[in-house]
Amino acid sequence: MAGNCHCINCKKATGSGYAPVLFVPKDSVEITGDVRYYQTTGKRGFCPNCGSSLFEDPAVENPGEFLSGMLGICAGSLDDLSQYKPEIDIFTSRSATWECMDPNLPKFSEMPSPD
Ligand SMILES: [Zn+2]
Repeated sequence: MAGNCHCINCKKATGSGYAPVLFVPKDSVEITGDVRYYQTTGKRGFCPNCGSSLFEDPAVENPGEFLSGMLGICAGSLDDLSQYKPEIDIFTSRSATWECMDPNLPKFSEMPSPD
């Protein structure tokens, strides 16, 4: 699942309107090198050297829910940016008036249900 998250947490993490996040099964990811985590409603992983956002781990925020077992990779951190193809906008109820969204993407005011 790939989506632009407009939640307040992602705004704070990016200093922008939303975070483009590619969600993959957590056990499919091998993390090498140093990552520091900041605990909020979930966990945000970032590079301890340059501060770049790397991961969004929603497990704490959504135990047993839609994104359980998934790890969000911050799309801007990908070496090949074309790997990110956003499918949805989520938490649009938290959008700022100055945010621009792709009108062709489905919008969810909160986190969509797994159905
Ligand atoms: Zn978010």
